[in-house]
Amino acid sequence: MPDPGLVEPITLRELVIANRILAHEGILDAFGHVSVRHPEEPSHYLIARSLGPELVTEGDLQRFTLQGEQVGGDPRPPYAERAIHGAIYEGRADSMAVCHNHAPSVLPFGVTHVPLRPIFHMASLIGPEVPVWDIAEAFGETDMLVRTIEQGRSLARTLGARRVALMRGHGSVVVGRTLREVVMTAIYMEQNARLQAQAASLGDIQYLTAGEIERASAMLLRSLASDRAWETWRRRAIGADSAREVKGAS
Ligand code: MN
Repeated sequence: MPDPGLVEPITLRELVIANRILAHEGILDAFGHVSVRHPEEPSHYLIARSLGPELVTEGDLQRFTLQGEQVGGDPRPPYAERAIHGAIYEGRADSMAVCHNHAPSVLPFGVTHVPLRPIFHMASLIGPEVPVWDIAEAFGETDMLVRTIEQGRSLARTLGARRVALMRGHGSVVVGRTLREVVMTAIYMEQNARLQAQAASLGDIQYLTAGEIERASAMLLRSLASDRAWETWRRRAIGADSAREVKGAS
């Protein structure tokens, strides 16, 4: 199968680096995935084959239609839950990157009806209201995985225009205009979840207001902040020689 390339190499490299950062920061472990919409063909997206994110190199990337049909890249088995990505790209023209993860501190907020809300500026990107999608509502008892495009579309409807949605008994999705935005949102959502639980054990929480969330989000999305964070996490995850590392052994 032809390589998924056909894109500027920088997109492939950024996607590999996003995999490594999210694994290194504890958002993805052996499971979960991150994708990017094809920069020149918006009806396609790029994602790794079924592989632990910290092991991903450029040679492991695959290219899919939004319906989940493979059109390029590594021929080995794909992620079972790739419908999450296609359905979100389909419903959200503004989405250029998607991460599905099982970040542990976030999980309790998907099963307790306690809303996840920003308690500090760095988590403002999760927005003022984080919805919870329950696969059982429309699909009954399942193995909890999003296996069909219909299930993915149901999740995308709950997500709506937001950046984040939780998945009951499973994990979450994070969506953004860039891979950097998605990585930053996912990392600080996990931190916020841990800190919110700590704060709740101390007493009533004073959350960020809607106006504070809006202003802090704008601050984080400026390249001064997002590039600084990305560089720090990239160096922490793969060291200085990222060009060699992301290409893989071949
Ligand atoms: Mn999953």
